[in-house]
Amino acid sequence: MSQMTRRAFTATGLTAAVAGCATVPQAPGVVMKPVPPVLVSADRVVRVDVGLRPYRASGFRVEREMLGETAVVHNYGHGGGGITLSWGSAQLAVEEGFDPDVAEYAVLGAGALGLSTAMLLLERGAKVTLYAKALSPNTTSNIAGGQWWPASVYDSAAIAPGYMDRHVAAARHSFRRFQLLTGPDYGISWEVNYVLSDRPVTNQPARAGHPMEEFAINVVDYAPGELPFTTAHARSFDTMMVDTPHYLRKLEEDVRERGGRIIVRAFQDAAEVAALDEAVVFNCTGLGAGKLFGDTEIHPVRGQLVILKPQAEIDYNIITGGSAYMFGRRDGIVLGGTFQHHNWSLEPSDADTAAILAANRRLFAGGVEA
Ligand SMILES: Cc1cc2nc3c(=O)[nH]c(=O)nc-3n(C[C@H](O)[C@H](O)[C@H](O)COP(=O)(O)OP(=O)(O)OC[C@H]3O[C@@H](n4cnc5c(N)ncnc54)[C@H](O)[C@@H]3O)c2cc1C
Repeated sequence: MSQMTRRAFTATGLTAAVAGCATVPQAPGVVMKPVPPVLVSADRVVRVDVGLRPYRASGFRVEREMLGETAVVHNYGHGGGGITLSWGSAQLAVEEGFDPDVAEYAVLGAGALGLSTAMLLLERGAKVTLYAKALSPNTTSNIAGGQWWPASVYDSAAIAPGYMDRHVAAARHSFRRFQLLTGPDYGISWEVNYVLSDRPVTNQPARAGHPMEEFAINVVDYAPGELPFTTAHARSFDTMMVDTPHYLRKLEEDVRERGGRIIVRAFQDAAEVAALDEAVVFNCTGLGAGKLFGDTEIHPVRGQLVILKPQAEIDYNIITGGSAYMFGRRDGIVLGGTFQHHNWSLEPSDADTAAILAANRRLFAGGVEA
């Protein structure tokens, strides 16, 4: 277990965690490590969030296209990893569309992708106007759990040759940029992630030899019974965790402070985009890009999250091979989740909430409601 963010926790938490060890037999000599349990119960729910991941099976799209005289640089379709990939994908897009002879740019969209693209342009001395139908907190980016790992971004059977190189290049750039932002100013911190499974964990966060393996930091495998969870096997690794509502608010402030203009405006079609004064437009409209630019591949993957009252001692995350996951954020305990392809509903579902609570409750023998 990483010592980087582990805090001391209360004797009550320890007792509860130890109480949960009974379900996994311990091999001789294995000593259980103390990890405080999440208290999963319906009466601890403070809100339910729903967001639509902008998913393309072939992966995110960074590509330049001409609309008459206007160059449009697309930067959208990051599925379940758009926070993670934001800076790196923005870097690829800016490399594609920045021209030292062009002074003024438009950016469409004020989610993680639009804001980071605008920042990179401003850092190059450009004049930027950002147009968006909705600002924080009313973007998908605000809903994201905020774990730094590009999960559920593409289908490996559908990606083109060369896609993985761009994916890893974007991840590498983002990984570096987010590290420079860690701390309370941007709401970004390193946390330990436990991968829980009934079988030995070999493919998470990345299997040996996979191009994403370089981002698997401090990987530790545990013996059965070494952790107070109800699954037999566990692995941990460290990632950064982004408190998305805080982070996006701060990023929007940064764009304004650097001289970026932000205008609330919805575009109905590509002709409206082509009519903008700016000769180069960065399209960071996420799921909105489907209708706006006729991309029939992009579709929503609906994600419902159940947020529990904060528990100060929970400074770790859990992921599983199934749909259950938990992020111990400072503003609340984030429980996931659903991955419903082609579901456009933003309404919270009571059935999903019950399923999410039940799936997460099963992970914590010491943290369950009776
Ligand atoms: C439940 C859930 C959990 C997630 N967890 C994680 C995670 O842990 N880590 C991670 O990296 N990612 C996660 N994601 C994925 C992440 O949220 C998305 O990939 C990311 O938010 C996409 O960002 P974006 O800027 O492309 O889109 P958005 O945040 O949707 O922003 C799009 C912007 O474009 C604007 N827009 C759209 N259409 C138009 C139009 N016609 N005219 C003008 N403006 C328009 C919108 O108003 C908005 O401002 C999660 C997503 C969900 C739903």
